[in-house]
Amino acid sequence: MLLTVVGCAGSVPGPDSAGSCYLVEQDGHSVLLDLGTGAAGPLQRHCDPAALDAVLISHAHADHCADLSSVAYLRQRVGAAPLDVYGPANLRDELNWRHPAPQFAFHELPSGPLRSGPLEVAVAPVEHGIEAYAFRVGDALCYSGDTAPCEALDKLAQGCEVLLAEGAGFDDTGVPRHLTAGDAGRLAARSGARLLVLTHLRSWLDHGRLLDEAARYAGCPVILAQPGLRLRI
Ligand SMILES: [Zn+2]
Repeated sequence: MLLTVVGCAGSVPGPDSAGSCYLVEQDGHSVLLDLGTGAAGPLQRHCDPAALDAVLISHAHADHCADLSSVAYLRQRVGAAPLDVYGPANLRDELNWRHPAPQFAFHELPSGPLRSGPLEVAVAPVEHGIEAYAFRVGDALCYSGDTAPCEALDKLAQGCEVLLAEGAGFDDTGVPRHLTAGDAGRLAARSGARLLVLTHLRSWLDHGRLLDEAARYAGCPVILAQPGLRLRI
């Protein structure tokens, strides 16, 4: 499985990164985890949007789903089939409102484990103040989405190889309904992950300090997500 970070900025795009978007590829099959603000641009560096097999949306905040419209446009102009989108129920209304024509085949989460080609994805509801999910792709990869620390995420992350988790702020100030970098580190330690990739990096925060805080607890190597980062898992 190949993981490519397309965008990893939290809340709004930063000068060097679009919002959350992660490309997962296996055996010629390609799926996106989230498609946040601005991600449709750099996505074209890494794959043909018309060839995408599915998009999984963790929750309906713009920094995780805003560029569905742009990808739909890129696909429509070359006559690609409606895009399979898996997401929370409230995303359906938004897509229907913006796209009266059938540019998406919408599948409501949670629907138990879902399969897209060779990829089996487990889904867990998490705590973000609106309907939100975390994803586990195969045994290897767990993606937190946005969430406060919670039991469902702990369970989903158990034994994963790579934990892709948000570090939306620092322990001393806290961030309501999000993981701090310290939370991400402690989650990595509890789950036994072999690598923590810290993401949802807000452009105005000191990313080096986020890395230090996560590394203090993680018990495994920690790296910062950055656009174009590719990991073979
Ligand atoms: Zn959010």
